Amino acid sequence: MPYEVTLIPGDGTGPEITEATRRVLEATGIQFTWDVQQAGLEVLEKHGTVLPDEVIESIKRTKLALKGPITTPVGKGFRSANAGLRKKLDLFANLRPAKTYQGLRSRYENIDMIIVRENTEDLYAGVEFQRGTSAQQEIIDTIARTTGNRLDSDSAISIKFISVMATRRIVKFAFEYARANGRRKVTAVHKANIMKFSDGLFLATAQEVSKEYPDIQFEDRIVDNMCMQLVQKPEIYDVLVLPNLYGDIISDLSAGLIGGLGVAPGANIGNHYAVFEPVHGSAPKYAGQNKVNPMAMMFSGVLLLRHLGERDAANRLEKAMARVIAEGKNVTYDLKPHPDDPTAVGTSQVADAVIEKMQKV
Ligand code: NAD
Repeated sequence: MPYEVTLIPGDGTGPEITEATRRVLEATGIQFTWDVQQAGLEVLEKHGTVLPDEVIESIKRTKLALKGPITTPVGKGFRSANAGLRKKLDLFANLRPAKTYQGLRSRYENIDMIIVRENTEDLYAGVEFQRGTSAQQEIIDTIARTTGNRLDSDSAISIKFISVMATRRIVKFAFEYARANGRRKVTAVHKANIMKFSDGLFLATAQEVSKEYPDIQFEDRIVDNMCMQLVQKPEIYDVLVLPNLYGDIISDLSAGLIGGLGVAPGANIGNHYAVFEPVHGSAPKYAGQNKVNPMAMMFSGVLLLRHLGERDAANRLEKAMARVIAEGKNVTYDLKPHPDDPTAVGTSQVADAVIEKMQKV
């Protein structure tokens, strides 16, 4: 039986990298039926939204999506399709592996980390109070009454909230992932020394959950120390679990450690659905030029195969990609020593090279 997967090409360079990824996934021999769904700027006029209901209904049916990036213009007054998808499907875990491959231009070797970022709460949830509104004034008065601290009346306020429920499920997710994928250690990242209640709750809950997994090591790090350690010795870390904001920042830092956005994959996973997509955006200035690197999305495809339990196909695809990277010949401009290197190949030629290598591994 083929796997049915919702395929969202997205916009900008999304359709090109999606096509390249679809080709390499099919070349693994695993059979897919793609339910192609359009979201993003191109459907805005027709549907009045960047995220039509059909897209959500398709994922609710197939439970799985492979997604290209979608542009979110700044200040146009509609919600990001990416954030909307995560919210509507309760995709609470954002999984972002960071791994060095021989041939990538990185200052490091032997990095193999999995960043597990909580996706639904914290400062990122958008609970905010604008300066000069009655709601903001009410919050300032409440804070003054309950804590004795009177905030300046020209303050804007964003609320940081962290719950036991959301922390338990993300930390359990990190441990379950570690167990299922032969990983040895989970590190919880926080700032509980200063934010004693919110991050303190995150740390205490993580410590509690860790007792259910005696086979996996557990440790915690304060986020500023974590940043320094990642720059000094990233190879000693394995699975990191973080609240939303730290997770966002540390995962981009980690993408930088391993050689950039062109090779950084991601997955958004909930209890019922999973959406696989590269970390990078739609890079619209390169749209239609057969130029950008499809590997971040192809590595997201590797995650999808692992999620389906197709380990052999996942390993073969990953190995073929690693060989193409190591040879450094059939790679896009971003993996060449200089971005204007005339030997850089295009998006679809990378797919050709990966497919050719896969036939040999
Ligand atoms: P971006 O990731 O699209 O691009 C930034 C730069 O990184 C590009 O100009 C390019 O130089 C490089 N780059 C990105 N992907 C690459 C690839 N595959 N190969 C080679 N080089 C690559 O970030 P941006 O310009 O800040 O965002 C563009 C749009 O994408 C925005 O509207 C943003 O909201 C959206 N976005 C979407 C997602 C998503 O769909 N999940 C994620 C991030 C940003």
